[in-house]
Amino acid sequence: MVQYVSTRGVAPPLGFGDVLLAGLATDGGLYVPDQWPRLADGFDGKRPYHEVATDVMWPYVEGSIEREAFAGLVAEAYAAFHHPEVCPLVELDDLHLLELFWGPTLAFKDVALQLVGRLFDHELTRRGSRATIVVATSGDTGSAAIEACIDRATLDIVVLHPAGRVSDVQRRQMTTVQAPNVHNVAIEGTFDDCQDLVKACFADGSFRERVRLSAMNSINWARVMAQVVYYVTSAAKLGPCSFSVPTGNFGNIFAGWIADRMGTPVQQLVIGSNRNDILARWAADGSLVVEPVVPTLSPSMDIQVSSNHERLLFELLGRDGARTTELLSRFRGVGSAEAPQDQRFEAATVDDAATLHIIREVHERTGLLVDPHTAVGIGAARARRRDPDVPMVCLATAHPAKFPDAVEEATGVRPPLPERLADLLQREERYDVLPADLAQVQRRIEAAVGS
Ligand SMILES: *Cc1c(COP(=O)(O)O)cnc(C)c1O
Repeated sequence: MVQYVSTRGVAPPLGFGDVLLAGLATDGGLYVPDQWPRLADGFDGKRPYHEVATDVMWPYVEGSIEREAFAGLVAEAYAAFHHPEVCPLVELDDLHLLELFWGPTLAFKDVALQLVGRLFDHELTRRGSRATIVVATSGDTGSAAIEACIDRATLDIVVLHPAGRVSDVQRRQMTTVQAPNVHNVAIEGTFDDCQDLVKACFADGSFRERVRLSAMNSINWARVMAQVVYYVTSAAKLGPCSFSVPTGNFGNIFAGWIADRMGTPVQQLVIGSNRNDILARWAADGSLVVEPVVPTLSPSMDIQVSSNHERLLFELLGRDGARTTELLSRFRGVGSAEAPQDQRFEAATVDDAATLHIIREVHERTGLLVDPHTAVGIGAARARRRDPDVPMVCLATAHPAKFPDAVEEATGVRPPLPERLADLLQREERYDVLPADLAQVQRRIEAAVGS
């Protein structure tokens, strides 16, 4: 049975249920499975998504949940998607687009979080416990986490977003949700202020205990695990193929690396970066050098320290926790380090001008609208594709209507929201505004839990 070990090598191994609720390990590391199970042979591209998903993920959860119960949660999670294939493949000239935006909030984070919310609820119910999820968001994560928590009896969620610094659509996707266990706070400050407040809440041991703080952020193993599935279903449909992934925290593309390790025939894994291209520089020369974050048209990738990269570095250092700790503390301390490379990854940087050009050109040639994150992946795929005979799959991580300004600037067409969200801009909003002050934020969280 799979157990989970920390990339820093000190925290004791845990089973899936504990890893799900813990998020980060007590030694500051990330949990990884102690083995990479092999996929059964012959995944058939015609089976329903939720069935393949259950099979692919089962070895990672076995022992912590009954098979029937797990299959039920997976089926429910993907029934919340508005496409019968859940993550459909669409042809785009000589490329394939893997559309990951058919979930409730129009971005790929739903694929993992719709399942993770249900897994939290199941595990907490089993333990007779509750949790309070606190999330800092610069846009997409907040709404996906909220949709994961709506109507879950064991969960309250409080989301901090920087006041005036998320798009109207993004804010309204969070603040128009009318569930009693969902709470939004606009913080008078930046995204970094929000993130610091969340970190400070977790660092305050007595507060953490009192409100039973928990996280669903992108380092949570369960999120990575859920993302492995669509690499497997894509290869089942297309045969051996390559993937190009617009990359921020490295969670999505690392799931592609895992699919490969489990036996999925993956030829190339292409990292698409915007101007915040620390990973592209790492892929080129093995250096990890932090530079200031610059805002771009693909804000969900405006990241310099890609937290999930640590999982890959741990593998490349021979699963040696001490060496991983040493590398990471040098990197975090002085902002640069030499790191091992993996030949399977290639990368390309696509700046804002090129992003707009790609959106325009795709629209002119095919009539399709793509969002700026997806466009970065398409640009990287074109720049780095090795073999035109091997299918290249570009991950479409957001619906174009989620980033209407950039799409309109590129094409002159403002992408409409899907029918079910058409009245989003008229719905009533509900949120508090607070200064970036820890005591006030903690009082607000306690009030949310008491209510
Ligand atoms: C989060 C996000 C990404 C980046 O994914 P990572 O797993 O952090 O690499 C890319 N595109 C969109 C639209 C996102 O929301």
